[in-house]
Amino acid sequence: MKEQLGLLIELQTLDRKRQDQKGVLDQLPEKIAAAEVPLIEARAASEATQEELDLLDKERREKELDLKVIEEKIRKLKMRLTDLKTNKEYHAHLQEIASVNKEKENIEDLLLNGMEESDQLKLALSENEATLKEEEKAFLVHQEDLKAQTDTLMDSDKKLEAEWLSVSAALPADLLDTYKRICAKRKGMAVVAVNGKTCTGCNFSLPPQLIAEVKKRKKIHTCNYCNRMLYTPETPSTESQVSAKD
Ligand SMILES: [Zn+2]
Repeated sequence: MKEQLGLLIELQTLDRKRQDQKGVLDQLPEKIAAAEVPLIEARAASEATQEELDLLDKERREKELDLKVIEEKIRKLKMRLTDLKTNKEYHAHLQEIASVNKEKENIEDLLLNGMEESDQLKLALSENEATLKEEEKAFLVHQEDLKAQTDTLMDSDKKLEAEWLSVSAALPADLLDTYKRICAKRKGMAVVAVNGKTCTGCNFSLPPQLIAEVKKRKKIHTCNYCNRMLYTPETPSTESQVSAKD
């Protein structure tokens, strides 16, 4: 029994280690996703600036066309000046030319503003792209690191599993089943120490007779309250006490 209890404790230690590692492993995809957020944001910022720039470029081309149309209109209006007969017609025509000229100036102003805006956006875009490159680099480093952590944890888990199988092979099948059943019900703690008069699994006080039986280690005893398997820690003093009593 003493040996079986030892094996069960060993098994439980392995199970808990594997559980802890699984907890870390389960969080890694989330960590990778979190590490990617600045990269995604930088990429979006770059794309948004590029889109603004494209739109501005499209507007510029449209305005340049408008300008050509207006310039042609002015040219034709000026050509007609010589055909005019009366002073009234002449003044009206000059007014029309002035109005179209005003329109032309407006377009030229808009083009100028557009060029300034475009220069600013180009500057912002180059900054965005520099940030994007930095974020790409940082993410790669992060990703590699998390991948390495994943590999290490998975390797370690394989080793622990192999160890678990070799330890469990030395235990009777029914005892192993009992262990697994209690583990599942009691948060992975199937074997717990008795501390003084207390079960360390549920913290309830155990009857003295039960504690005495546990100390004898002739049979595996379970806690009356939480049903976990009990053992007394193997310290030299308790060992000598057990043998002295025996
Ligand atoms: Zn208990």
